[in-house]
This record gives sequence, C-alpha cells and structure tokens, in this order.
Amino acid sequence: MSEPLSFDEAIERFDPVMGIEVHVELNTKTKMFCSCANRFGAPANSQVCPVCLGLPGAMPAVNHKAVESAIRLGLALNCAVAEHSTFARKNYFYPDLSKDYQISQYEDPIDFDGYLDVELADGTVWRVGIERAHMEEDAAKNTHIGGATGRIQGADYTLVDYNRGGTPLVEIVTKPIEGAGSKAPELARAYVAALRELVIALGISDARMEQGSIRADVNLSLRPRAATAAEQAAVPFGKRSETKNVNSLRSIEKTIRYEISRQAGLLATGELVVQETRHWHEDSESTSPGRSKEEADDYRYFPEPDLLPIEPSRAWVESLRRTLPEPPAVRRARLRSEWGFTELEMGDAVNAGAVDLIAATVAAGTSPAGARKWWLGELARTANERGVDLAALPVSAEDVAAVESMISSGRLTDKLARQVLEGVLAGEGSPAAVVSARGLEIVSDHAALLSAIDAALAAQPDIAAKIRGGKVQAIGAIVGAVMKATRGQADAARVRELILERLSS
Ligand code: ZN
Ligand code: MN
Repeated sequence: MSEPLSFDEAIERFDPVMGIEVHVELNTKTKMFCSCANRFGAPANSQVCPVCLGLPGAMPAVNHKAVESAIRLGLALNCAVAEHSTFARKNYFYPDLSKDYQISQYEDPIDFDGYLDVELADGTVWRVGIERAHMEEDAAKNTHIGGATGRIQGADYTLVDYNRGGTPLVEIVTKPIEGAGSKAPELARAYVAALRELVIALGISDARMEQGSIRADVNLSLRPRAATAAEQAAVPFGKRSETKNVNSLRSIEKTIRYEISRQAGLLATGELVVQETRHWHEDSESTSPGRSKEEADDYRYFPEPDLLPIEPSRAWVESLRRTLPEPPAVRRARLRSEWGFTELEMGDAVNAGAVDLIAATVAAGTSPAGARKWWLGELARTANERGVDLAALPVSAEDVAAVESMISSGRLTDKLARQVLEGVLAGEGSPAAVVSARGLEIVSDHAALLSAIDAALAAQPDIAAKIRGGKVQAIGAIVGAVMKATRGQADAARVRELILERLSS
C-alpha cells in the first residue's frame, strides 16, 4: 500500500475533479407517498403504514407539497423544470428498504441543467453546474448494535426504524467540478454550505446536517496535471471514489483533502485507483473502502408502474417562481451594508446561524451592534456548551431586544444583563420577570447610593483622607465597598463620580 502524498505535492502533480450529490430531506407534514407523519425523533416504528412498510398491494400516491418544494428548489438553482417527469424503481436489497426497491427518478428528473454561484473566503465566486435534482423517498434507518465501529461489520444485530422510510428527498447532483485545484476542498464545503443556506431560505427542509436531513456523497478523481487549462480539459477523468453520507461541512472539506492525498499516493507509485464507495471516519480523519464498482445498470431501473407522470403546468411553475426568496448571498450583502458589519463580522453571524436572529432583534428595536454582541457572544457560547443551534435556545429576539433596551435606559449594566439572560435561559420567564424576581435592577436611587458612599467613607477614613489629599487612585477601595454594599448592582462609573463629588464638597 502506498502512503498518501502531501496535499501540496498532490495538487502540483494532479488535477482534482469533483462531483457532489446532496440528499435533502424535505420538511413536508407527511411522507413522500403516504399520509404518515414526517417528523424526526418519534418513537421507533410509530410512523408507519402499509405503503411505507412496502406491504404487498399497497399503493403509493405522490405528495403534492413535496413536488412543489422540489420545483421551488430547482428554480432557485436556476434549473429547467421538466414538462414531463416520471418516477422509477431503483432495485436493490437491504433491510432498510422493505420493498427491495426505492422509488426515485431516473430518466426524466423534475429539475435539470442549472447552477449555483458559490463564494469562497477569498471573495472569488465559482459557478457550480447542477446536472439534475430529482425526487425520491428515503430508506429506513439501520442501527447496528455491538461491534466497535457502529458499522454493520462486526455488529451482533441490527435494529431498523421505518419511521424514516418514505421521507421525501430531493437529490441534487452537480456536473463535474473542474479547475478548482488546491481550492477543491474549500469549494466542496462552500457549495454544500450555500445549498444548505438556500434550502433554509426556501423553508423546505430542517437542514440539520447532524440529524442527517442533509447528507452529501462526494466523488473525487484525479488526472495528470497539464500545462494549460485548455490542455487540462482535454485529459480524460481518472477513476473516482465516492465517499458516502458525509454529514458535516468540516468533514466534507476534510474528505476531499484526504481523498486527493490518498489517490495521488496511489497514482504516484503506479497503482490504480479502484472505483468504489468509501466511508469517512471522523476519528482517524481518513476514508475506508465500502462497496466496489457500482453502476446504474446494477440497479435495473425501470418505470414505476404505480405512479402517473408529473406534468407541472407552466402557469404553476411561474407562480412558484414568484414565491422564491431573495437569494441568500444577495440578502447577506444587503444586510451587511444595512448593519454596517465588516466581512468578518457578517461571516461570523452566518456561520453561527445568527443572521435571522440578529435581523429579528434589530426589527424589535435594537442596534445591529447590540444584537450582534449578545447573539455572537454570551448566547453563542451557551448554545455551544449545550450543543444546540442558536435558534434552539429558549430565548427570543424580543427577549434580547428587551435586555438591550434596559441597558440603554440605564436600568441594567452589561454584567446584570448577563444574569438576566441566564435567568431567561433557565426558564425563569421574560427579562422583566427575571429582573424583578432576582432583584437585578441597578441601584440608581441617588439617596441610597449616597448613603452607601458615606458609610464606606466613614468606615475607611484613612483612604478618604488620601483621596482628599490628591491620591485619586486610592478610590478603588471605596468604589469596591459601595459595589459590595449594593450587591454589584450599581453603575461603577457613576459611583466613582459621586464619591469625587462628595469629597470635593
Ligand atoms: Zn406510511
Ligand atoms: Mn439518492
């Protein structure tokens, strides 16, 4: 076995070509071909019926909403929408597929021939061609029990949850992505990120990669490096590997990087790349072989006899086109300039999934900088600690806006505001409720502050004398005593002013 080549050397000697297939689970209320609920996290095998269990004689019926979502996605990907589109049976045996075939699309997918513009960190924009986007049903979920790896090899037995069986999917397939060179790993990641953002903007999927609602299969091949782009394009593609079900953006980038190094290592020593599926391993940051060479012929596709073709009217397609949201990249650029954020600040907001939350907080009356401070600071940290999305935290944009307005009206310091949000996150109610229940408001009562100051000065007459004598730096001890007396609920700067006033009078 040859060793992987270093990434830089691999890119110097070979030209990577990628193809990316992304499965997106749609968030329709019901499944693709039956009326079972389409919901993640229910008890195993509680959302099943004869159709999605594949019992003999059961008849599928197409989910209209799923077709609508597939068409809207196709339009957003600049695809043509088929006038005549059919379903096909993709035949294979596996326990997660009780019919022994998956209803998919083969010859005439609903969407074809589009593109998605993808921006990289250096500001360059790549146009990724979309070959097709087709509708299909998801398989059930296998859980392999026993064995060290959680994979089928070495497992004692396997549990099958058919709840996922029949979930509506759209599979988006790119055209070959050529010419990216050393940017290939970043481009793969950025493409899937952009696709995810688009799906979220369309509102057609939960888009939670960690729950598997977006999964990517990444194909990679290498060919010898040529001197010019034109010569390069004339070199035939090499044999490809297909790494299946990569389920995080980070892993997509790493998978491409690793496969470039691995295949270059083989080719550099005269070995051959085997056409096969592979698995990504997060722990070892490497891939291992799965099934060998697999072609469309193996699946014996044939037209699905139980379903009529789909022939969306042009009027319907055009009416769906009018429902498309502002493209995410355009919206991001618009908000960035409205909010006065730097590229870096906006990038952080996007990566944290905070753009909509900041927008809602700004709409509730907070300054963009104020909204950003909380969502990307305290709250992002909490979400990280709890391992949930920012949007899943039990705190709303209105709560954050309420806290910020209490700060700007002088009722809370930043420090007290953090305690208020802590209370909101702990389920103690609205910010106002937490302030009154925990007694968190700033002590701004002039008389109360003055009496605390007088008490502190009386308790430390030597320090009072030092300050009077011009050693103003000694004031810290008095400020500290006042803050302690008010349980940290005074504005320290204001306390300092009042002490100086008191001593100069
Ligand atoms: Zn069902
Ligand atoms: Mn598929």
